[in-house]
Amino acid sequence: MGLFKNFFIALSNNAFLNSSAKKIGPSLGANKVVAGNSIADVVKTIQRLNDKNIAATVDNLGEFVNSKQEAIAAKNDILKIMSAIHSNGLNAHVSIKLSQLGAEFDSQLAYDNVYEIVKKAAEYNQMHINFDTEKYDSLSDITHTLDQLKTEFSNVGTVIQAYLFKADELIDKYPDLRLRLVKGAYKESPYIAYQTTEEIDANYIRLIEKRLLNAKNFTSIATHDHRVINHVKKFVEAHNIDKSQFEFQMLYGFRTELAESIAKEGYNFTIYVPYGDDWFGYFMRRLAERPQNLTLAFKEFVKPKSLAVVGALSVTALLLGKVRNKR
Ligand SMILES: Cc1cc2nc3c(=O)[nH]c(=O)nc-3n(C[C@H](O)[C@H](O)[C@H](O)COP(=O)(O)OP(=O)(O)OC[C@H]3O[C@@H](n4cnc5c(N)ncnc54)[C@H](O)[C@@H]3O)c2cc1C
Repeated sequence: MGLFKNFFIALSNNAFLNSSAKKIGPSLGANKVVAGNSIADVVKTIQRLNDKNIAATVDNLGEFVNSKQEAIAAKNDILKIMSAIHSNGLNAHVSIKLSQLGAEFDSQLAYDNVYEIVKKAAEYNQMHINFDTEKYDSLSDITHTLDQLKTEFSNVGTVIQAYLFKADELIDKYPDLRLRLVKGAYKESPYIAYQTTEEIDANYIRLIEKRLLNAKNFTSIATHDHRVINHVKKFVEAHNIDKSQFEFQMLYGFRTELAESIAKEGYNFTIYVPYGDDWFGYFMRRLAERPQNLTLAFKEFVKPKSLAVVGALSVTALLLGKVRNKR
């Protein structure tokens, strides 16, 4: 993994920078990839996507939740956006992170929060609740929670990170759940995850094929990689896999034209729409994935607010001496 990637992943893991950035509001170009702060902003964004035949999965941004109050506030925010989706008749569902609901310090609290969300979503015409996957050390919390919930609910699913050696086992374990397949966004050790682009890409393709051939539920292929998308299009055609069985997903603000053209071709398409003030960690992971994403930030550099942010980050980095990795 390159130094560049390590640097931005380390920034994304820094609690102090995350909480400082929260106070400043989306900056450095993050406003291009975060759909605003309020529910009204998100509803407008989803309506615009739905008009283009594109669905949404909504993420209430939040990292470094350390207290019961914060976890309950996050749950309440998620319930509010679910209610807005339902009452506005939007084609959208919700992506959640267990860490935001308290899993890092109180697993029972996190479970209670998740249970309330999933139960309410089921009442909203089986609105889907996707459990985003985070760092490897939280994976067993997710699978444990899913194993409990899936005995009672059918509107739950999760994300398989193709860089993990364990991904194969998870695909086999959950043929009956709706799954999103991704390459993987975090820094993981060589003992548990592929490290090179070539290995990760090859495993991603292999897992997508295996899943599409064996799935008993819907599959989301979440990537901006046109080579993977083109491969999937050919693969489903060759194997007579109906378009109703899967979709493509991309993140809000990235490759918009490609997303719209794929939707126009008649493929199901969902955009992942993050919103809220906790934008920093999410944005740093996007910079880590692709150096070119920095152009989003550079375009904003001339703006006074952005210069202030850059100044604050530089001073902080100097004070910290070395960026501390949370893990
Ligand atoms: C909807 C969605 C949900 C996700 N959820 C999770 C999750 O729960 N957990 C997790 O760990 N990760 C998640 N991720 C992130 C994912 O794991 C990857 O880190 C991220 O998508 C980058 O990999 P990629 O497949 O998009 O392509 P990359 O490997 O980043 O890019 C491959 C190639 O595609 C082209 N390309 C990529 N982006 C662009 C662009 N913007 N413009 C032009 N060309 C481009 C370039 O040729 C590039 O070399 C999610 C991603 C998406 C899209």
